[in-house]
Amino acid sequence: MNFLLTEQQRLIQNLAREFARREIAPLAARADQEAAFPMVVHDRMRALGLANLTIPTAFGGDGLGVADLALVTEQLSWACAGITGAVGINSIVADVFHLAGTEAQKRLVFDRLRAGGWGAYAVTEPGAGSDVAAIQTRADKRKGRYLINGSKVWISNAPLAAFFIVFAKTDGAARHGGISAFLVDRDTPGLRLGKSMGKLGQRAAPAGEVFFDSVEVPEDRRIGAEGEGFLIAMKVFDRSRPMVGALALGLAQRALDEAVAYARQRHTMGKPIIEHQAIGHKLADMAVRVEASRLLVYQAASLVDAGERNTLQAAYAKLFAADTAMHCATEAIQVFGGMGYSTEYPVEKLFRDAKVLQIYEGTSEIQKSIIARELARQ
Ligand SMILES: Cc1cc2nc3c(=O)[nH]c(=O)nc-3n(C[C@H](O)[C@H](O)[C@H](O)COP(=O)(O)OP(=O)(O)OC[C@H]3O[C@@H](n4cnc5c(N)ncnc54)[C@H](O)[C@@H]3O)c2cc1C
Repeated sequence: MNFLLTEQQRLIQNLAREFARREIAPLAARADQEAAFPMVVHDRMRALGLANLTIPTAFGGDGLGVADLALVTEQLSWACAGITGAVGINSIVADVFHLAGTEAQKRLVFDRLRAGGWGAYAVTEPGAGSDVAAIQTRADKRKGRYLINGSKVWISNAPLAAFFIVFAKTDGAARHGGISAFLVDRDTPGLRLGKSMGKLGQRAAPAGEVFFDSVEVPEDRRIGAEGEGFLIAMKVFDRSRPMVGALALGLAQRALDEAVAYARQRHTMGKPIIEHQAIGHKLADMAVRVEASRLLVYQAASLVDAGERNTLQAAYAKLFAADTAMHCATEAIQVFGGMGYSTEYPVEKLFRDAKVLQIYEGTSEIQKSIIARELARQ
């Protein structure tokens, strides 16, 4: 087992680290306050080669792996999990086509992403989140086309997206086996955006409702076979969960860094608070969890690149890193005392940004159920 990064990985990690500190960190608080994604960040990421990393070279992309994506995501998320999360959705969209797209679909979508376009990934509905098989949105086939009717909620990047990956039932009587995936353009008649959701954290990443009223989609916009949608979504999770783990890891590292810096300079009872055992032990506990998250995330991502099944390891990484982010952000506030509660310091934002990491891309409870199911298979 090799725990060392390649020279190329070190270079891109350093590039992302410098970019995050120089270009994202100064904008993060304002993007959070205004709940607005700073488009200039995406433009600069594209110019530097830090966006859409996994698009294959055959389609004009960098052809980097999921481990490379995790390294970059970790660094960017250190500066802002919201901004990084929004950009990450485009990687999830690309994953769908990696796994199930036709050549023509790949060409279309990868070109759009490379040109700076945004995609969105629409599974969740008011009545179906963890229970994906309960989705009600329907895609009924009529004369070689599909008519999509239904609604989605919590769709990240919906207000920015030029196109959507929409999961809908082609067989309403079936559960998992009745779901199919479609590529639907934003400007298709009958597709309407609802309100943007007000959010506790990751406020720079917009999320919204999407409504479908007899939206016509040609057959060549179906992704994969009819009924294959659930399988595609599960395979996408194996690639996306290491990335979301990396998002959590970057945030947790930031919480640790802020807490250590503050604990070194804040004095009480005649010494820096880092020298009070209660505080020193908190920091030690945070540091161990961050490092363990890093190993789990890198492992889960590297397995994808090695072509190995990683469902169990992806669940480990997502669960542990998300819980670590929440733990570290909570403890960072405690280390800061009253100032941790102030919007003048960055740790309250980390706390708000961390929570959703335990909810999206499969809740922590669902990750535990996956782990238990995988253990039962062994
Ligand atoms: C900021 C944000 C961005 C999002 N972005 C997207 C997006 O881009 N695309 C998209 O499709 N969705 C997105 N989502 C939706 C997200 O994936 C769902 O919120 C998540 O899967 C949970 O579903 P739910 O909200 O319906 O909760 P529910 O499924 O109703 O769960 C409620 C609670 O019950 C628990 N629970 C449910 N079922 C079980 C079970 N079988 N065993 C144990 N516990 C269970 C859950 O863990 C949770 O604690 C986003 C959500 C948020 C908050």
